[in-house]
Amino acid sequence: MRILIFGPNGSGKGTQSALLVNRFQVAHIESGAIFRDHAKRGTELGKEAKTYTDRGALVPDSITIPMILDRLNAADCAKGWILDGFPRNPSQAIALLDGLSKAGTPLDAVVEIQVDREIAKARLLGRRTCPAGHPNNLAIPGIQPVGEHEPYFCWKCGAELIGRSDDMDENAIDIRLNIYFDAENGTLAAVQRVHDWCKKSNTTYVTLDGSAKIDQVQAELCQGLGLT
Ligand code: AMP
Repeated sequence: MRILIFGPNGSGKGTQSALLVNRFQVAHIESGAIFRDHAKRGTELGKEAKTYTDRGALVPDSITIPMILDRLNAADCAKGWILDGFPRNPSQAIALLDGLSKAGTPLDAVVEIQVDREIAKARLLGRRTCPAGHPNNLAIPGIQPVGEHEPYFCWKCGAELIGRSDDMDENAIDIRLNIYFDAENGTLAAVQRVHDWCKKSNTTYVTLDGSAKIDQVQAELCQGLGLT
């Protein structure tokens, strides 16, 4: 199974991707997480990427495109993948669709989670990271962390939560959302390109309302993908 998932930061695409990954045991390729991992390990790529990720700007295509295309060729991707966070602009979309076509790798479906900007922003400000990966968000009923102030604790396992530096900075959040909602040069322009490509190639395209509850979004996602 190979699925491309779009949605603004805060739409719940990471959570939905993780649920699919668990269910189908495929690789979760999350561009933002790859950059964070490099930054944590202090690699040259990580140091350079951090100068962009910290302010909410896109890491240049010259770094991001080969990094993702290479990653999709890794052994753990043979069984399938969920690609989350890439492409984010039209050049990345073209590079991905060309790369897949050259490699003879079919895309099974594209998922677009729609959520308006205000909801996305509130969720980004409310997002806290659990070291065990459980989703926690002050703005989402059902996964609200425990506590009255920082540090909060995971509603599921009780671990102390941390906030991502780019989620705590309102200016960085606005920049990230500007990039997503830019229908000329940003992610919505990439979405449009991929949508057109899906229509031409008869590839499943599922649109979801990301403001609904996680379980409901998941149920609609499975229905859209023809899974039971
Ligand atoms: P995310 O975890 O998806 O919010 O991504 C965190 C940050 O990683 C973004 O704000 C960008 O700086 C960088 N990033 C993630 N995906 C991409 C991409 N496809 N192209 C360029 N930069 C990216």
